[in-house]
Amino acid sequence: MDKLIALVTGANKGIGKEIARQLAVAGHTVYVGSRDADRGKEAVADIDGDARLLVLDVTDAESIAAAAGQVPALDILVNNAGISVTERTEVTEETTETFRRLYETNVFGLVAVTNAFLPTLRRSAHPRIVNISSGTASLAASAGQAAGIIAFASGPSGALGAYRSSKTAVNELTVLYANSLAGQNFKVNALAPGARRTNLMGPAGLASPRAGDPAEGAAGAVRLALLPDDGPTGGFFSWDGTPVPW
Ligand code: NAP
Repeated sequence: MDKLIALVTGANKGIGKEIARQLAVAGHTVYVGSRDADRGKEAVADIDGDARLLVLDVTDAESIAAAAGQVPALDILVNNAGISVTERTEVTEETTETFRRLYETNVFGLVAVTNAFLPTLRRSAHPRIVNISSGTASLAASAGQAAGIIAFASGPSGALGAYRSSKTAVNELTVLYANSLAGQNFKVNALAPGARRTNLMGPAGLASPRAGDPAEGAAGAVRLALLPDDGPTGGFFSWDGTPVPW
């Protein structure tokens, strides 16, 4: 395979760092997106291969514009940067401030970054966009129609409304971008990486016995990032490649 150029947002730790590592190990050039330069430098130093720091805060228009100006060519964009909450609060108790904060990063940030890098991606022969979603985004799971398919979503609870609905928006955006970019050889897909031991939900998430290795979830993103031209677009896939019900 040709040497490709990728950008992973929020790649200084967690699943994003593992995605960056795996793409670099596979021989590709990887821009390690990090909103904090020092945290990004540490991640770059920890990754073997052609990894480059790209300071990028997905909620900051100036930061996005500056980052886009530093990337002359790009084949793969992985929209990984995301935030959640540390408490599994019921939606009935969640504040609109929480919704705004999570949507700012998980939804508006994804749109802003994607649109800023689209002109560069359009010059690629095989452009790929991978949106890191969540099994908890599945409407089918929330409605109790996907029992046993998405372990972490664990059925029709009303918790984590801001986070889950932000990722449902990511799923819809995945389909809309795939539709808009159809016929231009783009593949735009969403990934449910599975429950992983990361900082996303604070110490409880890191310690959760239900959470697995972030590298395993990252491998699912790498698969979607390196899809062949006859691969799927506008889909929602689990880390192991199986389709997830919307
Ligand atoms: P994580 O370890 O907390 O990593 C999140 C990354 O996003 C960090 O690098 C963080 O940077 C970055 N980030 C947050 N806000 C940002 C901003 N405004 N601009 C740029 N970067 C920003 O969590 P993770 O579990 O690896 O999460 C990665 C993705 O996987 C997220 O989209 C998450 O929703 C999704 N996901 C995770 C799980 C799971 O079980 N862990 C399950 C399903 C989906 P800082 O270090 O600067 O905060």
